[in-house]
Amino acid sequence: MTQGPSTTSETNWAGNHSYAGTIHRPRTVDEAASIVRESPSVRGIGSRHSFTDIADAVDLIDLSDIDRPPEFDADARSITVSGTALYADVARSLRPHGAALRNLASLPHISVAGAISTGTHGSGAAHGNLATSVAGLEFIASSGEIIGVDRQTPDFEGMVVSLGALGMITTVTLDVDFDYDIAQHVYDDLPLDLAVDQLGMILNAAYSVSIFTTFAGSLGGQVGQVWIKRRTDGSDRSMSPRSTFLDAPAATMQHHPVPGLDASSCTRQLGEPGLWSERLPHFRMGFTPSAGNEVQSEFFVDAVDGNAAFDALRRASADFSDRLMVAEVRAIAADEMWMSPHYHRASVGFHFTWFAGDNDNAVRTVQQALEPFAPRPHWGKFFHAELFDPATAYEMFDDFVDLATRLDPHGVFRNAWWRRVIGS
Ligand SMILES: Cc1cc2nc3c(=O)[nH]c(=O)nc-3n(C[C@H](O)[C@H](O)[C@H](O)COP(=O)(O)OP(=O)(O)OC[C@H]3O[C@@H](n4cnc5c(N)ncnc54)[C@H](O)[C@@H]3O)c2cc1C
Repeated sequence: MTQGPSTTSETNWAGNHSYAGTIHRPRTVDEAASIVRESPSVRGIGSRHSFTDIADAVDLIDLSDIDRPPEFDADARSITVSGTALYADVARSLRPHGAALRNLASLPHISVAGAISTGTHGSGAAHGNLATSVAGLEFIASSGEIIGVDRQTPDFEGMVVSLGALGMITTVTLDVDFDYDIAQHVYDDLPLDLAVDQLGMILNAAYSVSIFTTFAGSLGGQVGQVWIKRRTDGSDRSMSPRSTFLDAPAATMQHHPVPGLDASSCTRQLGEPGLWSERLPHFRMGFTPSAGNEVQSEFFVDAVDGNAAFDALRRASADFSDRLMVAEVRAIAADEMWMSPHYHRASVGFHFTWFAGDNDNAVRTVQQALEPFAPRPHWGKFFHAELFDPATAYEMFDDFVDLATRLDPHGVFRNAWWRRVIGS
């Protein structure tokens, strides 16, 4: 097998999964194609920020040694980047063109291919997840053939949130907007009752809103923090900055979402305007995002069930809060991507940052509390597969499995995670 340098014994970012396979770092797309063609079991690997074995296989291919400069297309308002480009790299490439992405996740440290494959999202009731900005893709299919697809290609909606199972993504073309500034305000100690009751209003109050809570005090407790990111040009019709938000006072110092952690890793708050890429993520490139020693889970429900689901979690929280560093509640617009957790469903996402260790019972409690609301899990985070039936949760499930079978008839991209979660 032709291959560049390879290594074993690497772990994911959280350190809770050691990749069993060999990690290859080919220097050309042809080399990568030859590994794909000859491997019995293969996967692309990005920045390793998923919390499970979703990226594991006998052969893992990391394309970051392939030199693929970004191409900006001013007429099409798009940029084509390597699949392994990090969102921080994309933002840097867009800067000279005065261009921007519509949204970002909580961190810019993740690869574009890895993020879109799992339906990664930021917050904002008007914004789809990051996969919805994908205008085209190029990938190495299991045959070794390089296939280019775009929005005109039949079944494109099944190809972007691919769970890593359709091929090895070499390039991604992303829609771009003109750049814009964001100002970020944090509000402290919003009563949890009010947050549950007014959830829709809060999540719609600005371009991007996140609610952070530890569920402390459970019933009658405080939310913790509300992070409000508004466009300074006013085009998003955000609430205007105020000294209070629903009686919660504006913070007078920088905050970290996890109580007690140093806020220097976080993007600037206190209403100081900054470029979209310096405010939409919570965490700054060059710093450890989130807490570091953690595992994450996240579940999405229909936005119309947001209040009831939040209330159900609040009532169940005594049974999981000892494992919880912080929970985050966000809004994501509905989309058309077959395996997107937000497929045809404007969604509220309930995210959980757990202390590293055994979180089986805590996650089970959360899944059971949300069960009446047909939760869809984040594909890149930890959940109990036996409590989730993707065939019921996803209307286009059979079409997706058919598509995967057509592109990969021998199932070389289907790994242990696929067999456990999607089925054999
Ligand atoms: C601190 C932290 C904060 C996070 N915040 C958010 C957040 O705000 N919002 C959110 O939605 N998620 C968040 N996540 C989850 C994260 O966005 C997802 O797990 C995402 O998949 C990570 O991308 P990655 O490049 O690390 O992918 P990896 O973990 O490397 O891989 C994920 C999947 O993508 C596939 N893949 C990767 N590269 C390729 C390729 N070139 N070709 C084909 N398949 C490929 C893999 O096979 C695998 O199936 C966070 C994770 C961490 C650790």
